[in-house]
Amino acid sequence: MRAVDLIYAKRQGEALAPAAIEALIHACVKGTIPDYQLAAWLMAVFFRGLDERELSALTRAMMHSGEVFDLSAIPGVKADKHSTGGVGDKVSLILAPLAAACGLIVPMVAGRGLGHTGGTLDKLESIAGYNVQLNGAQLRRQLKKIGVAIVGQTDRFVPADKKLYALRDVTATVESIPLIAASIMSKKLAEGCEALLLDIKVGNGAFMKDLASARLLGRTMIGIGRALGRKVAALITDMNQPTGQAIGNANEVAESIAALQGRWPEDLKEITLALTARLLILAGQAKDEADAQGQMERAIASGAALDKFRALVEAQGGDPRLIDHPERLPLAPKEAVIAAPRAGTLAALDTRAIGVAAAILGAGRATRDAPIDPGVGVWLKARLGERVERGQPIFTVRYRKPGLWDQARPMLEGAITIGDKPGRKRKLILERLDD
Ligand code: URA
Repeated sequence: MRAVDLIYAKRQGEALAPAAIEALIHACVKGTIPDYQLAAWLMAVFFRGLDERELSALTRAMMHSGEVFDLSAIPGVKADKHSTGGVGDKVSLILAPLAAACGLIVPMVAGRGLGHTGGTLDKLESIAGYNVQLNGAQLRRQLKKIGVAIVGQTDRFVPADKKLYALRDVTATVESIPLIAASIMSKKLAEGCEALLLDIKVGNGAFMKDLASARLLGRTMIGIGRALGRKVAALITDMNQPTGQAIGNANEVAESIAALQGRWPEDLKEITLALTARLLILAGQAKDEADAQGQMERAIASGAALDKFRALVEAQGGDPRLIDHPERLPLAPKEAVIAAPRAGTLAALDTRAIGVAAAILGAGRATRDAPIDPGVGVWLKARLGERVERGQPIFTVRYRKPGLWDQARPMLEGAITIGDKPGRKRKLILERLDD
């Protein structure tokens, strides 16, 4: 079938046969379909959507467009968690070693920062020497030895997603629920995980701004998992303020190390333990919530979870001494404080603006290949709903270049709303979606 006929059919709202979708993805990876026709098809999907059969055909074709990790020779249940992205979201750095310390095998293929959100790989690279590029054989060896790996996507891993994502990025077709779902699920299924827990972030620092779209994305991904024979569940979690205190890269690693030692902010603890417990239960590693909580408590109190993180860093070429001396992680030289302009309740935070401010300081990228400055960062010193006094620090900041600080400062100042009504404790886990 000619590409133009597939574009026409989708534009008219018709469902495409799985074989047609497979042919399209095959041509995409081979380079035999021009970018303008792929882009036109993506736009047709953006407006017309995909039904369940089309979506599983697309996900399967993308998943098989490159190397698929065969982890069957490694004993244990392979399980992973994926977040749709937020600000200060360092949960993967804690959950992966914690779940591995509880007995799961965690083959995590993680991403880089996207827009105002941080990326697990960028955070890990603030550990000197940490290598995110493992091939399939290296990944299998590491999983067999220590049960956990956090790596990036290579050119051979789901190349169809690489191509389609780059096109979506420049054709205003990123925010399409079927395209996001196929993109995420193709990568998670190709990494060989049997159980996958999705953390769907919702709020002013997330890509999903309302519960209805978060639910639809979750249900769509759970449906793909069911069609392709994997256990998938989701938690919808609040992203109306950064998770934990640290927003950046090295500072998020330091906060994660402290968390693995049992020293963590309440919100980071609640979200991380809820996600890890759900994953342990989904994967059959814990029989219920109490069992999961007990396993996690023991892994943290005994030091086993921190030891897993140390083993992970060492196995991937990083300097494991940083785990015991996080003060040696990069830290930018200049300090600043943003204080509360008046007394009252911290009523709202513009979480996206906080993420953008951190990115402007150098924690994120302005262009695709721009370097990250791992030592810059923002620390959130008060939580939503908390009583604050005039002059009390809301943010502390580390920066390197005064010119960048001049740009970031008004964004942080403008991110704070102080109100007069007393605050209430916020719900962090908003909904649970199961198959
Ligand atoms: N993350 C992905 O991997 N793909 C998307 O399409 C959006 C977020």
